[in-house]
Amino acid sequence: MKQPILYIIIPCYNEEAVLPITSGMFLDKINQLAGEGKISPDSRILLVNDGSKDKTWEIICDLARKDEHFLGIAQSRNRGHQAAVLAGLMEAKDKCDITISIDCDGQDDINAMDRMVDEYLGGCEVVYGVRSSRDTDTFFKRFTAEGFYKLLAWMGVEVVFNHADYRLISSRVLQEFANYKEVNLYLRGMVPLVGFKSTSVYYERHERLAGESHYPLRKMLALAFDGITSLSVKPIRMVFFVGLLIMCLSFLGILWAVIAALMGKSVAGWASLACIVCFMGGVQCLFLGVIGEYIGKIYLEVKGRPRYIISDRTWDEDD
Ligand code: UDP
Ligand code: MG
Repeated sequence: MKQPILYIIIPCYNEEAVLPITSGMFLDKINQLAGEGKISPDSRILLVNDGSKDKTWEIICDLARKDEHFLGIAQSRNRGHQAAVLAGLMEAKDKCDITISIDCDGQDDINAMDRMVDEYLGGCEVVYGVRSSRDTDTFFKRFTAEGFYKLLAWMGVEVVFNHADYRLISSRVLQEFANYKEVNLYLRGMVPLVGFKSTSVYYERHERLAGESHYPLRKMLALAFDGITSLSVKPIRMVFFVGLLIMCLSFLGILWAVIAALMGKSVAGWASLACIVCFMGGVQCLFLGVIGEYIGKIYLEVKGRPRYIISDRTWDEDD
C-alpha cells in the first residue's frame, strides 16, 4: 500500500505565545511518522490563521518560508474555531489522503496521532480522539461538558462522548462531507452523519502550554446551544408535547369549574387566576423563543453566506 499523505489541520487565533513552541512538536511528529514509513514524506502541517490580531500570521509565514512542511492559509476575518477547521479541511481534501485536525495549544496529546494513523492503515476512515480523563479541567468545566454530551445524546444527536475536534478524517470521507452545505457548523455532530467505518483512540488532555483559552463560558454555552438546535428538532417537539399536556390539564380545570358552578359552589380566587395567566404568558414566550431560534437558523441557512473566505495562502495557487 502506498504511504498516505497526511495533512495536520491546525486552527490558530491569537496564538503568538504558543505557536513557536508547538509548531516544532508537530514537525517532529510528521518527520517521525514519515521516518517510520507510516505516512508519505510529502505530508504537511496546514496552519489556519483565523483572523488573529497579533503576530500569528507573521509566525506562520515565517515557518512556511523556513520549512516546506509548513503551509498556511488565512481567513479574511475571525470566524470562529469551527469555520477555521472547516476551511483547513476543505483546502486539504484534494491534496492529501488523510487529515488530522488538532488545536494548536498542545492540550491534545500529539502522540495519539500514531494510533490514529495505525487505525487508518487498518481500514478506518474516521478516527475520533477521545479524552480518557478530564483531570486537568476544572470541576465546573468537567461537569458542564459531560452533562452537555448526555443532553445531546438525549436530544437524539449522535456524538462521540468526550470527543472534541481532534480527529482523523480520510479524504474520501471529506469529499462526501463537502456536500453538507449548512452554515451553522457543529463539526463533531456532523462528521458522524457521514458514516464510513470509524473508531476512537483515547488520550490524556493536558493544560494549555501557553497563552489563554478563547472559550469562556459564554462561548461554550453558545456552541452548546448551537449544537443542539443545528442537529436536533427535539426542542420543538417538546414544545408541542408540553403544550398538549397543559391543554389537557386546563380541560380538567374547565370541567371542574363548570361542575362546581352547576352545584352552586362557584369558585373564588383572583390570585390563582392571575397566577395561571402569568404562567401561561411565560410558557408561550419561552416556546416562541424556541421556535424563533429555529427560524433564525433557517434565516441564516437560506442566505447561504460563505462559511469561510480565504484571503491569503503561503504558497502560490498556480504552482
Ligand atoms: N480558535 C480559532 N478561532 C477562534 C477561537 C479559537 O481558530 O475564534 C482556535 C485556537 O487557536 C485553538 C483552538 O481553536 O487552536 C481551541 O481554542 P482554545 O484552546 O482557546 O479553546 P479551549 O481548548 O480552551 O476550549
Ligand atoms: Mg485549548
